[in-house]
Parts: sequence; structure tokens; C-alpha cells
Amino acid sequence: MIVAANWKMGPSLQTAGVLAGAVAARDFPEVQRMLFVPHPFLMPMSVELASSGVRLGGQDCHFYDSGAFTGDVAASMLRDCGASVVLVGHSERRAAYGETSDTVAKKAAAAFAQGLDVVVCVGETKMEREEGNAEQVVIDQIRASVPCSLPAQKLLIAYEPVWSIGTGVVPSLSDIALMHQVIAGVLAEKFVASLVPPILFGGSVNSDNAGAIFSVPKVGGVLVGGASLDAEVFSAICLIASQCFETDQDM
Ligand code: PEP
Repeated sequence: MIVAANWKMGPSLQTAGVLAGAVAARDFPEVQRMLFVPHPFLMPMSVELASSGVRLGGQDCHFYDSGAFTGDVAASMLRDCGASVVLVGHSERRAAYGETSDTVAKKAAAAFAQGLDVVVCVGETKMEREEGNAEQVVIDQIRASVPCSLPAQKLLIAYEPVWSIGTGVVPSLSDIALMHQVIAGVLAEKFVASLVPPILFGGSVNSDNAGAIFSVPKVGGVLVGGASLDAEVFSAICLIASQCFETDQDM
């Protein structure tokens, strides 16, 4: 199980330090934890997380490794600041910065070239779902956003319905199951079945709904935005994930 936190442009440096320290102080051996932090906080958070096993991630990167791109950050810079993983194609970047799946694929390839693992985010808008196009939109996004060069071991997919992010509205478990099944099918076209990358669910996940979401087949973890800014809630979600893992082992 993977529990990943997307801090977005949320915490101050001081809050981030307290948050990372609290996360690092807990141990969930069966859960892979990741914190996607604002770029200026990568270095100080790498100190907070040192030897905790919690992975540090960037929230985006450019597809070139250097150049005249004011304000942008290269994948190699993330790596040099302690990140081992990066989010690409988050719906907020697709919507606010006009990022196409083609751009996302270039970013994913650049990140892989620098040794980072890559979380490719996909998800349909409310209108796309209402028009009955949710599955096709997500299939198209995955086909176009995952570069051929990216091996399964370096890839994670985050399925995040746009209408569920930050709204408190979560799809039904059957809708999550259906979409994860669809995504697993697309990935199986690309990778051998034994190497299908983990598929995370994201969208208003909290400690009340995490258990049910973890129980959905093919959910390999969660990407948590708002609720990850509370260390207690984030750890509660990790605890639920580790309990789900133990239940699976007992079966
Ligand atoms: C996100 O931004 O990736 C996200 C899932 O946010 P939230 O949990 O707040 O919906």
C-alpha cells in the first residue's frame, strides 16, 4: 500500500517542518509513504525525513534539464534536493497551465532519465463523466501521458477524478473499482501482467473513507491532498493502510 501526500502550495515552511517531523516519527513498515512538497521545501524536508523511510517528491518538473525557463524546475534539481519521485500531470496543472498529455509524457520521460520514479495523474472532469466519457478520457490520458521509455517499475498512476479533488465528493466504490479495472487493462497492454504499476486513488480521501477505498480491488494506495496537511489524519490513513495489508496477508 502506498499513501502519498500532496501538500500543493499549502503549508508555510514552519508548518511543513512540523508536519514532516511528525510523519517521520511514525513507522508503518508495510506502507510506502511519500510527501510531495513545494519545491523550495525539498531540501529542508529531506533533512526532516532523513532515514525515516518516507520518500520525498516534487509536485512537477520541466521536460528540459536546463535552459531559459524562468520559474521552472528540472527533474535533476528535484533529485539533487533529495526527491526520488515526482508528480506529473496533476489536474490542477493540466487545467491551470494548459498542460497536455503530450507535455506530461515529456515530463515523465525527463524525470525517468534523471532516475526519479514518476506518478502520472489522470482523471476526468465532472462534465466528461456526465457525458458518459469518463473511461475514454482516462484511457486516452494514460495512453498519451505515459512515455514508451518508462518501465513499469518506475511508474505509478494516480486516478483522481477532477470533480472529487478538494470537494469532499468521492465516487462510489463501484465507480472507483470500475475505473481502476479499466486503468489496469490499459497498463496491461503496455506492461507484462506481473509488472502492472500501482494505481492510486485520489480525491477527498480522509481517515473516514480510506478503509473502504483500500478495500477496492486494484487500488494500490491513495494520493491525499487536504487531509495530508494534518499529521494525525495522515498517520491515521497510513495505519488503516497497514491494517488492510495485514488483513490481506491473513487471507
Ligand atoms: C490532490 O490534490 O491530489 C487531492 C487528491 O486533493 P484532495 O485530497 O484535497 O481532494
